[in-house]
Amino acid sequence: MKTIKLSIKLLILLLLSFAMIGTYVGSLISSQIVSKNTLEKNYLIENQFYAKKLADTTNMHFRDMFSNLSVEARDEDYKTLDSKYIYKDLYDLLHSTTYFNSTWFVDRNGIVIASVPDINVEGTKVNSIGAREALERKRHTVSDPYVGINGKLVILISVPVFNDVGTYIGFLAGTINLHEENSIKTILGQHPKHQNDSYVYVVDSKGNIIFHPNINRINDNVKENEVVKELIKGNSGSRVVINTLGEKMLAGYATVDANDWGIVSQTSQIAVNKPTYELGKQISFYTIPFMLFVFVLTIFMLIKIVDPIRDLAIYAHQVTKNKPVPTEKIPEWYFEIRELKRTLLIAIDFYQKKLNSAESESKRDHLTGLYNRRALEKMTLSTDPFSIILFDIDRFKLINDQYGHLKGDEVLRYIAKLISEITIESDLGFRWGGEEFLIILPEIELEQAVVIAERLRKTLETTNSPTGKPVTVSMGVGHLPESADNFSELLDLTDQALYKAKQEGRNRIFAARNK
Ligand code: GH3
Ligand code: MG
Ligand code: MG
Repeated sequence: MKTIKLSIKLLILLLLSFAMIGTYVGSLISSQIVSKNTLEKNYLIENQFYAKKLADTTNMHFRDMFSNLSVEARDEDYKTLDSKYIYKDLYDLLHSTTYFNSTWFVDRNGIVIASVPDINVEGTKVNSIGAREALERKRHTVSDPYVGINGKLVILISVPVFNDVGTYIGFLAGTINLHEENSIKTILGQHPKHQNDSYVYVVDSKGNIIFHPNINRINDNVKENEVVKELIKGNSGSRVVINTLGEKMLAGYATVDANDWGIVSQTSQIAVNKPTYELGKQISFYTIPFMLFVFVLTIFMLIKIVDPIRDLAIYAHQVTKNKPVPTEKIPEWYFEIRELKRTLLIAIDFYQKKLNSAESESKRDHLTGLYNRRALEKMTLSTDPFSIILFDIDRFKLINDQYGHLKGDEVLRYIAKLISEITIESDLGFRWGGEEFLIILPEIELEQAVVIAERLRKTLETTNSPTGKPVTVSMGVGHLPESADNFSELLDLTDQALYKAKQEGRNRIFAARNK
């Protein structure tokens, strides 16, 4: 299986990136949701209020129109049915307000008595929907939109006229040209909201558009629209609706009591959410550089924190491979790494010492503390000249026999001690065999070595050993390169010299010379 090498630096960086991106995305999403919801809710409420306000204003406007017409209808002139007088009254009625585009008086048979402006229809019978409705209902009426005598799309606002005895004699009416400048447009057409994103439209009780900022939409029937359905039922409120262009709109709607119209004020959802997207952009604009700054700063700090750990890990790794780097290189500016480094060094030092002592113990003879034969095998002797002294205790078997083996051991230790006393630091003392010893004397000439050997022999001969009596030794002395060409030959020849000393009577020295 392949293992992926993950460093602590990479892990922390990944974690940091994850945390930062997570925080950024989280805050962005939540701000977007909160802002969107709040704005949409506010717009729905606002549009509802606005539609209600416009409905109230329209209501008042129609009541004014009706009362204006009603007052006028009581004028005596209409009872005369004299078109000359009536024309004058209609003229004044039209010009005294901005309500109407034309004014009319029609008798109960539908014959036009007078109209202003005069379009030569006096004496003709009107057959329009509006006129028929007015004649039938004989009360305050606002007609549905229809194409009037003048060929224009109009609505007719009419009041009945009665004579002194209360007989119906006709109706007095004003028209509003829906496609032209008119008083409804003055009320509904100008509103303070975003011109392209918000608009108001008005439908009559059958779902026909009476007013719309797009003049081509006037007289379209939109009774299938969800909002219009509500209005036809007589409800007011707000909701999200899809308009004929397929756009989602936040609509507020309210009904006008005077004429059963419905007023809709609506704003495109996209437009409402524009500030939300702007907010998102702004957040990103300010957050991303800040995040990058924090990221870079964190990487910098991360390196400062992690590098000592990595150096320590590399050091530990190298220690196991026996090639440690200098430890001063590992920075230790914080507690954990300082303690780890200290402990690691202590542990390494401890085991190094143990290893060293184990190694040196394996080179030492337990009884005497001198080097053993194995130690010499591991040593690399210098190529400089040196001498050796090889000696053997005389009749040691007898000592063992007479004083016991333990005493014999004591004698061996006593001799080892003497060796260390007569040698200097650079000299090497070995227990070469049972009661046989070897001393290596670097840079010592053969003659000097013989003198040193003689001093040792003399000391032993004249000093009491642990047995209470002196012991004697027989010695061979050799020199490289004077006595032999190589170390093994030197040992061989020196051993022969020692053998000769034994043969010649013991307690004496022979030098090995083959050249
Ligand atoms: P020579 O003068 O010919 O050397 O006579 P020797 O008796 O010394 O020689 P030999 O080789 O016959 O005897 C050596 C004795 O040293 C035999 C052995 O018991 C004794 N020996 C060897 N190692 C030790 C030791 O560690 N402790 C004791 N106490 N005796 C030892
Ligand atoms: Mg011996
Ligand atoms: Mg001996």
